Amino acid sequence: MHNRVAVVGSLNIDLVIELDRMPNPGETVFGTRLERHPGGKGLNQAVAAARLESEVHMIGAVGDDGSGDWLKDVVTREGIRSDGIATARGTSGTALIEVDASGENRIIVIPGANDQVSPADVADHLKALSAVDVILTQGEVPIEVMIAAAETGKKIGAQVVVNPAPVRDYPKELLTNVDILVPNEHEAQELTGMPTSNMVDAVEAAQALQERGPGCVIITRGEKGAVWSSAEGSGQAAAFKVSAVDTVAAGDAFCGGLAAGLARGVSLAEALRWASAAGAIAATGRGAVPSLPSLAQVTELLER
Ligand code: ADP
Repeated sequence: MHNRVAVVGSLNIDLVIELDRMPNPGETVFGTRLERHPGGKGLNQAVAAARLESEVHMIGAVGDDGSGDWLKDVVTREGIRSDGIATARGTSGTALIEVDASGENRIIVIPGANDQVSPADVADHLKALSAVDVILTQGEVPIEVMIAAAETGKKIGAQVVVNPAPVRDYPKELLTNVDILVPNEHEAQELTGMPTSNMVDAVEAAQALQERGPGCVIITRGEKGAVWSSAEGSGQAAAFKVSAVDTVAAGDAFCGGLAAGLARGVSLAEALRWASAAGAIAATGRGAVPSLPSLAQVTELLER
């Protein structure tokens, strides 16, 4: 094992606008605050794995607007290799998030450059990296890109971890090349049409998903922990008890933590503990990237 993770996924700029109340159609209102944050499930999960001190290579695309350079800077400042990030013509992936005084939000996402990632470039880049242990991808890039990542992963002997978020019509060609599929309970329910709210049901849903091709399925269930199903059987990973303030990016921390653990060659059970600790700590901090824990924080929680 080389502790090397390649993340094939989205990079977004999140523009968060706070305002007293949402405008009606045709109306103009004043906002009270504008913040700019890095986001996208690909970027979040890459940062999560990098903070756990894996060597992380980000593969994706940003636009040739100012946001693209800013996103690449964010990535390199986290110690993530950015040679796999192409610059496409047009806008970077952008999420416009409006939050009113009651906390209600409205979100518009422009996939932008994330939709322009090329499957052939992804395959070439992955083959050129030597000894990748884990390839991690999510549903915010084209399905053909996810398939290229998974198929190449199989060829080069990497473990392929897929976070099927958001839920899309994921084809067999993808699922049969997945080693570990990691939906949350809502995604698992949408993918299977089966209930997932109690543990027994969640295990059954994991088994049903596993029958579609993945070697292992892990369903994350927030403060209720996670369940898994694989050829070896099934089981659960308890959540760590923390006081949660904002669970945004808990799932991203979990996926990044899982990838980082696996890239170090620990067992699935141990990687699940890393993932659960990373998810729990992310739930104790506000925002996405700012809440992603360091290796020291995860180690401290694991030893507690
Ligand atoms: P998502 O962010 O995709 O909805 P989850 O909420 O299922 O994902 O969280 C992923 C994982 O993070 C959980 O399986 C759990 O291990 C951990 N986690 C999330 N929320 C909490 C919490 N409130 N307390 C402890 N652990 C949590």
